[in-house]
Amino acid sequence: MAGREEMDFDVVIVGAGPAGLSAAIRLRQLALAMQRELSVCVVEKGSEVGAHILSGAVLEPRALNELLPDWKTLGAPLDVPAAHDEFRMLFKGGSLRFPTPPQMHNRGNYIVSLSNVCRWLGKHAESLGVQIFAGFPAADMIIENGRLAGIITGDFGVDKKGEKKSSYQPGIAIRAKVTLLAEGCRGSLSERVMRFFGLREGCDPQTYGIGIKELWEIDPKKHKQGSVMHTVGWPLDGSTYGGSFLYHLGNNQLSIGFVVGLDYENPWLDPFMEFQRFKTHPHIRRLLEGGKRICYGARALNEGGFQSIPKLSFSGGALIGASAGFMNVPKVKGTHTAMKSAMLAAEATFAHLTENRPLDSYESRLKESWVYEELSRVRNIRPGFKGGMWQGLVHAAIDTYILRGRAPWTLHHTPDYKSLKEASECAPIVYPRPDGKITFDRMSSVYLSATNHEENQPAHLRLKDPSLAVAYNLPHYGEPAQRYCPAGVYEIVQENGRPRFQINAQNCVHCKTCDIKDPLQNIVWTTPEGGGGPNYSGM
Ligand SMILES: Cc1cc2nc3c(=O)[nH]c(=O)nc-3n(C[C@H](O)[C@H](O)[C@H](O)COP(=O)(O)OP(=O)(O)OC[C@H]3O[C@@H](n4cnc5c(N)ncnc54)[C@H](O)[C@@H]3O)c2cc1C
Ligand code: SF4
Repeated sequence: MAGREEMDFDVVIVGAGPAGLSAAIRLRQLALAMQRELSVCVVEKGSEVGAHILSGAVLEPRALNELLPDWKTLGAPLDVPAAHDEFRMLFKGGSLRFPTPPQMHNRGNYIVSLSNVCRWLGKHAESLGVQIFAGFPAADMIIENGRLAGIITGDFGVDKKGEKKSSYQPGIAIRAKVTLLAEGCRGSLSERVMRFFGLREGCDPQTYGIGIKELWEIDPKKHKQGSVMHTVGWPLDGSTYGGSFLYHLGNNQLSIGFVVGLDYENPWLDPFMEFQRFKTHPHIRRLLEGGKRICYGARALNEGGFQSIPKLSFSGGALIGASAGFMNVPKVKGTHTAMKSAMLAAEATFAHLTENRPLDSYESRLKESWVYEELSRVRNIRPGFKGGMWQGLVHAAIDTYILRGRAPWTLHHTPDYKSLKEASECAPIVYPRPDGKITFDRMSSVYLSATNHEENQPAHLRLKDPSLAVAYNLPHYGEPAQRYCPAGVYEIVQENGRPRFQINAQNCVHCKTCDIKDPLQNIVWTTPEGGGGPNYSGM
């Protein structure tokens, strides 16, 4: 580690999302209760805690109640109880209200901005003695004798060509007895760690959706604080999994978003444009007219559920929260499970450090917890949609009401990058032009995410083989990255009469979709210089 600053902690946690912060808080609670010395640090790639957090979000407070039972008196930003649920099937021009599936009942839950909840959790963690380093991405792992011995943060001040600038500072080596990876869905280091330790052997591949979200301030007359609506159907065709969420927060704010399963088949499909088109449905347009869009962002979410949970612990560390999975897809919730997994990992880590117990007691604790039971019960619902929406809805009803989640079989997943059909086999989709009032283009959207990257740095989106986008993806799939990226990062431009694949890395909102969906798995998302990326507020 010559030339690098080194720091030592008992525990280093990568990612200050709900999982990372819950683990940090639980560790320090235990240390204070048992009067043990225990140093805990959290590294976060966003410019501040919460800057990269994007969620719906309806929060089920079960894990929070266990972590901080007095969260109300501690000033947690959970101010809007969910008061009213609605589930609709949209058709072109019309809609039908369906009975709300039991998993989607939200009484007792809260409509929140998860980025603000994380800001609050971060402050609480610091008050307990946790050190949080925001603007420091974990770029590499320290492996010693086959054990994860910590992480290395990204270098600062390297130019596009890889040369050191005058501002150059090498990344810091943060060594720890235990490293907890809490990077969220498709964590860049977590994926490498999973490969290194073979953690995905014996489980299904992880599968994903892309969630695209806008925050609106709407006409007070149309705002119904506490109201929760989900839709399925239009504008997606019957073979594509997805749907929308509309959550009425406080202050006349509406969180509106659209999720598309990344197992979609038609390479002409554009999730961003599907979301824009969704807003033109009369039922939705009515709500938005007269309102103002104030923020935009996108993030992938896990959809693999129970059967995609990898081995969770390994020599020197563990995977917690959405780095491992744990999303309850029928509930559209993963925060409570992410937090609970983190708390269990923290308890196992504390027992490991203080009583020399094996770290893999985290896995047995998880198997005995409500997380396992909850995810096991709904495990067949998402893969039941493989045959299309109607088949999926009927299967979900049978699984929920008749089998009650106790079917003696488990349906399996295939990786999302394998699902695209050839462009020539699929009908191109013509999307209406954005009107600038209800529907928008990508560039004005990215502007509202306050995304910023130092321009003179190596591209953080790496191509294993730079020729494949034009040589293979373009003729076979019309280069789908141009459409699945919600930030306009990928373009095919004409240069001297020939197509060239252009990467506008500075626009990247860190959703991770390209890393998941590229049909040849040729795009590798790596961490950019610290602090780069979106600066979400209220998301
Ligand atoms: C559109 C959408 C809607 C959703 N709606 C809901 C909902 O209504 N209710 C619900 O309960 N759940 C919902 N979820 C799921 C929920 O947001 C996640 O389950 C939850 O955020 C997972 O928490 P986490 O801490 O594991 O990961 P994240 O919240 O993703 O946090 C990970 C953190 O790690 C940081 N990080 C990542 N890599 C690095 C690195 N290498 N170095 C340093 N820092 C790093 C990130 O910047 C981020 O701050 C939704 C998700 C999406 C995308
Ligand atoms: S480049 Fe990749 S990670 Fe970045 S916004 Fe586009 S799809 Fe998401």
